[in-house]
Amino acid sequence: MKKLLLLGASGSIGTQTVDVVLHHKNEFCIIGLSIGYHIAKLHELLQQLPSVKRVCVAEKAALPALQKEYPQIHFYSGDAGMSELCAWSEYDVLVNAVVGFRGLKPTLTALEHDKDVALANKESLVAGGPLVKAALAKHHAHLYPIDSEHSAIFQCLRGNEQSEVDKLIITASGGSFRDLDRGALKNVTAKDALRHPNWQMGERITIDSATMMNKGFEVIEAHYLFDIPFDRIETIIHYESLIHSMVQFQDHAILAQLGSPDMRLPIQYALTYPHREVIIGSQPLDFSQISSLHFKQTDFHRYPLLKLAYEVGARGGNGGAVMNGADEAAVAHFLKGNISFIDIETAVIKAVAQVPFKQDVSLADLVEADAIARQCVELFVERNSL
Ligand code: MG
Repeated sequence: MKKLLLLGASGSIGTQTVDVVLHHKNEFCIIGLSIGYHIAKLHELLQQLPSVKRVCVAEKAALPALQKEYPQIHFYSGDAGMSELCAWSEYDVLVNAVVGFRGLKPTLTALEHDKDVALANKESLVAGGPLVKAALAKHHAHLYPIDSEHSAIFQCLRGNEQSEVDKLIITASGGSFRDLDRGALKNVTAKDALRHPNWQMGERITIDSATMMNKGFEVIEAHYLFDIPFDRIETIIHYESLIHSMVQFQDHAILAQLGSPDMRLPIQYALTYPHREVIIGSQPLDFSQISSLHFKQTDFHRYPLLKLAYEVGARGGNGGAVMNGADEAAVAHFLKGNISFIDIETAVIKAVAQVPFKQDVSLADLVEADAIARQCVELFVERNSL
């Protein structure tokens, strides 16, 4: 029985992780979780998951009532509580499905305690790649990707030598505005951007798909996960989101992983690796129903944040933390209607140019870089708000 600690239990990945666990009750149990502000959802989960012994919520003010109702559970609050929870000795695998930079510290804490991490939190590698890599080298712990693209690459690499890889090919849906040129992006709204063509996901990642910041993040994650240089990581727009990514080998054989868009596969594979198991209710691909697959080259002019991510990723240091912090802040402002869609890109590019670069970084350096990047965006928003 694998004991899981699930951070971000109420989000899209968190909910699907609970689904996977409930379908494999003899193999997995969730013994701790974090849930942010969703107390109503917490009550529901505690009914479904009687094995939960520790819980972290966002607000300290919620603790007395919760402690009274669930005296057998140990409660924590805030980001500090989340990291404290990750230092707990009793769990086997951390499923980190927190959204944002705040997910980095829990990942590092788990690795430092020799715990395996099933990673859905992109920022752990985008902002903290150098630190996560160092922690993996030093501790007896493994990282398993949950993102569909990285899971696909992880699956394609199995049984092959790393040294025989020619390049990684990460597929991209192109997001909500993939058929619009830059001129048409001026007046698009958050509501338009939240209509993703293929995937149902959280708000931030759906906006990040539309700017392709998300694909840029995935390039950086792939670099750290699979130790492949940036000039051998390609992205390609693939309209149907059926090929989840590919690996090209030196002999030009290409292995691809295909399947219906269902995040339960990467979640489950990260937990059952190296084994595969049935996913209840999953629909297999029916090739007789697929008349064609469509591809389009990714265009750095059309998607400037994708270009920026390659540059920032290759430089390393605090650049990822700056780019991510700025993007988190800018997307939040766009969702509130404070800035335009195009201004997300401008704000992130400006922050990366403005925040002083630092090569050798500690966690404290990254926290500082993240904070300064957010301040840059706040200033930008004051001057450019709609
Ligand atoms: Mg993805």
